[in-house]
Amino acid sequence: MPNIELLTQETIDQIAAGEVVERPASVVKELVENAIDANASAVTVEIKDGGTSLIRITDNGWGIEKNQIQKAFLRHSTSKIRCIDDLLKVSSLGFRGEALSSISSVSRVELVTKTMSDLTGNRYVIEGSKEISLEEIGAPDGTTFLVRDIFYNVPARKKFLKSNQTEAAYIADIVEKLALSHPDISFKYIQQNQTKLHTSGNGNLRDVIYHVYGREISANLIKVSGSCEFFEVTGYIGMPTVSRGNRNYENYYINGRYIKSKVIAKAIEESYKNYMMQHQYPFTMLYFTFPDGALDVNVHPQKMEVRFDHQQEIYQKIVSILTDAIHGQELIPEVPIGE
Ligand code: ADP
Ligand code: MG
Repeated sequence: MPNIELLTQETIDQIAAGEVVERPASVVKELVENAIDANASAVTVEIKDGGTSLIRITDNGWGIEKNQIQKAFLRHSTSKIRCIDDLLKVSSLGFRGEALSSISSVSRVELVTKTMSDLTGNRYVIEGSKEISLEEIGAPDGTTFLVRDIFYNVPARKKFLKSNQTEAAYIADIVEKLALSHPDISFKYIQQNQTKLHTSGNGNLRDVIYHVYGREISANLIKVSGSCEFFEVTGYIGMPTVSRGNRNYENYYINGRYIKSKVIAKAIEESYKNYMMQHQYPFTMLYFTFPDGALDVNVHPQKMEVRFDHQQEIYQKIVSILTDAIHGQELIPEVPIGE
């Protein structure tokens, strides 16, 4: 029988990284979330070769002080929570302190960062969890992460990546979802030197919907605004005439976080059931706000799920708010042709 041995730190880190970094799009998600948490008003995402050779994320957020940089790359190190109770009222997108350590354990990372109060910036290079250098360097306020050669040291993972084109599509999707979560932040997405998305950051959600989904969707929206004892919700849903054969156009956010939820998906389906053929799904862009303490955001390392109580009541409330919105729209009298 083989001996029981404690894994080396390097192996522990690589195994843990697998939960957070599944593909280049996960790196983009984590780093853009960090930019949002750092109060950035502009974020640029640049990728080459589906993100496999290069991902560069630049923000104008508050930066990282020199004496904090190395700590930021340790596993379970975070500035966002201090104890488990903080999770009940966490308003940042991050809180697990795992992204930087995970990303740097499976790729080559270069960080350039400067805070507003520091006179110079710093450049930090770390490859496969091994620190290469930390030096002062001139830099604008904010943070740039350059992530190269993802999974260069984890061939088993690299093998499972899809074509560069498919990986780029995953990245475009996540950037769009993040841009839609923050109409007040200007997002730029550059793929192979070509700008694919550029939002103004003027705070107008309809503008972002237009940029991401185009004319047909943005011209056929119903406004949603409602509240109950459990949550508030605002946003837009599509007229029943614009539908898709999959759920790709169903977006909903809870407390600023893009998530997936069976309860919300079912409520959307129920609300549209009299208007849509089977296996057709509407466009939705719903922003829920739940009070502190009503959510458990710590369900999965990728933070795409949340847990909440009162699921049945919440389901009913969503159905009633959405059906009211759809009906209200119907009541707008149509102008007969020729008048
Ligand atoms: P988490 O986001 O869960 O705290 P991360 O590993 O993603 O963990 O980041 C570790 C810490 O590094 C963050 O808590 C934050 O203090 C700092 N940090 C990471 N990215 C940025 C950024 N773009 N701007 C400023 N600080 C950052
Ligand atoms: Mg983070």
